Amino acid sequence: MAEIRQLIMARTAESAVALKGRRSAFLAGGTEINRLGSTVEASRLIGIGRIDALDGIDKITDEENGIEYVRIGAMSSFQDIIESSIVPSYLKEACLFMGSRTKRNMATIGGNIALRRTDSYLYATLLACNAKLSLMCRDGAIIRRCAKGYLEDHEEYRDMLITEILVPAEATVASKRYSNTAQSHAVLTVSAAEIDGVLRIAVAAKDTFLGLLPEISAEFSGRIPSDEELLQMVASDGKLCFRDDMFGSSRYKRYLLSVTIADLAKKVRGGR
Ligand SMILES: Cc1cc2nc3c(=O)[nH]c(=O)nc-3n(C[C@H](O)[C@H](O)[C@H](O)COP(=O)(O)OP(=O)(O)OC[C@H]3O[C@@H](n4cnc5c(N)ncnc54)[C@H](O)[C@@H]3O)c2cc1C
Repeated sequence: MAEIRQLIMARTAESAVALKGRRSAFLAGGTEINRLGSTVEASRLIGIGRIDALDGIDKITDEENGIEYVRIGAMSSFQDIIESSIVPSYLKEACLFMGSRTKRNMATIGGNIALRRTDSYLYATLLACNAKLSLMCRDGAIIRRCAKGYLEDHEEYRDMLITEILVPAEATVASKRYSNTAQSHAVLTVSAAEIDGVLRIAVAAKDTFLGLLPEISAEFSGRIPSDEELLQMVASDGKLCFRDDMFGSSRYKRYLLSVTIADLAKKVRGGR
């Protein structure tokens, strides 16, 4: 991590974005930025903790599609989300993957999304439920992107400020996380959701892949693939190049992913 030379506390989202350059980072909860051996390279920090517009959790209805969303301010901590009476349980469950209460009090949803870690607590769930993000551009304009778009085209959005996250208020989503202990990094976090009758399976596989698995999801259209077929699909999916490491062999990880996909698909589709 580069030496931090400057800390500026922004009062508005517009001023935070205007200050953002290549060698700077937004300081949200600071759990990653201040971590020993942090992955964040920055010499200037822009504190965003005092921007009221990034707080709060409420419900809105999207005028375009009529869907009700829970809107979560980017500075909401994992604990704020867990304690909210309106956040759907599937997102609270994902926030509880962060085992430390102390860290949950500090770490924000915006920071977690911006980091795009392959052992992310939240990404698999956010991708599966088709979460949307509001992003503030340098000129102060707000654009909306789905979590998948933000992840895949991140270079385009890297200096933008995530202002809010929208998740469907009503959705059937199931997630599962595997780690050696509650405090350790996850080797695998998998989520499945049924959105508009279509199954969406997403995975965060440590040091391997973060994203949706559309080809495997499509195999569930009108049928239930066998365990053997799923194992074969996982093994032949070029994105899932698992390695042997301290978390297990590549063979074991493929097996774990395929049985988890079967299990989660069954949970969200009720055996169809
Ligand atoms: C011991 C330890 C273990 C951890 N294990 C995991 C783990 O297993 N999985 C995991 O996902 N995380 C892990 N983390 C990282 C971290 O705790 C979480 O990802 C957390 O959600 C980051 O949020 P933050 O608010 O603390 O981000 P910060 O540390 O404040 O910022 C992190 C990055 O996000 C950017 N950022 C912050 N807010 C915004 C915003 N609104 N818009 C755009 N960019 C923004 C910053 O520019 C910075 O680059 C771990 C951290 C520690 C200390």
